[in-house]
Amino acid sequence: MIIELKRGVSRVLAEAISLKYAAVILNNYNGRLIIVTSGKLKENELDESVRQLAERVVITGSDIQLASRKFLTSKREIRITDDLTIGGNSQNTLVITGPCSVESEKQIRACAELCVQLGIKVLRAGAYKPRTSPYSFQGLEIKGLQLLDKIRSDYGLKIITEVKDGSHAEAVIEYADIIQIGAKAMYDHSILRACGKARKPVLLKRGFGSNLQEFVQAAEFILCGGNEQVILCERGIRTFENFTRFTLDLCGVSWLKENVNLPIVIDPSHAMGFAYGVPDLSRAAVAMGIDGLLIETHPNPAAALSDPAQQLTFDQFKELYGTLADVAKAIGYKIV
Ligand code: PEP
Ligand code: MN
Repeated sequence: MIIELKRGVSRVLAEAISLKYAAVILNNYNGRLIIVTSGKLKENELDESVRQLAERVVITGSDIQLASRKFLTSKREIRITDDLTIGGNSQNTLVITGPCSVESEKQIRACAELCVQLGIKVLRAGAYKPRTSPYSFQGLEIKGLQLLDKIRSDYGLKIITEVKDGSHAEAVIEYADIIQIGAKAMYDHSILRACGKARKPVLLKRGFGSNLQEFVQAAEFILCGGNEQVILCERGIRTFENFTRFTLDLCGVSWLKENVNLPIVIDPSHAMGFAYGVPDLSRAAVAMGIDGLLIETHPNPAAALSDPAQQLTFDQFKELYGTLADVAKAIGYKIV
């Protein structure tokens, strides 16, 4: 349940209420204090004295609360920088591309130049890589973040880069324009807590073994920490199918669009795991009316230090990119 208190209700009073219901208080919604209790709390369990102090009471019936369309009926607009937003009523699909990992200055510069050439505003690349083997490339770490910083100022691009564990969360928060929480890190509470305190957009990827409730509840940890700028990313879930790396859950995306007030990005690269499927999946994703598309590209995928099979060459990416505007237009969207 979300209790939006009337203007002028004091913090002390809000704290007394929150103690009674073991709730969280937020003070940044339209200048009002709001109290979020367990979603299981029923309307008739709310004291009349508390109801008197409320401007609005939202019965959510589940712990999908701040992210719910019951709380905010329209989709949130997330401000990435002063001149770039995602979500809201824009009907824009923001294309984000770049390599899986920052590997060298030459490699990341080539990717940045591809973005500039096509008018793409956000470059992706990981500096801390959550690998499945401890013996493979783990990322350039802080040196990777510094390279991304340099690229940002040289090319005027925005940077999305991932945080893999709490040890470097503050560094990623400092360097990124959008903080990515990877699929394997979705449940890491030290990251969720740090991102809740951050005042930058966070792109939260769905854990590949998580259902939609668990996924959105992870987003709730960030939202109730006071950071309203959360973007969800569907990147494929594990199913019995193993000819493809994961299974892109487009049904799940439909459900999120209907029930959740956060912008949605689709990542076809990690879902498919193979470059040949990425163009088809990208077009299918854009045709759904989504807020963003995240695609891995590399100047020489065969030599990539992570995810070599799924990254597109620049030529493959350009060919795909050239087909997206018409798909978006068919449903009243625009590629940006
Ligand atoms: C990535 O974006 O490179 C990545 C590691 O993705 P995921 O967390 O979805 O596996
Ligand atoms: Mn990757």
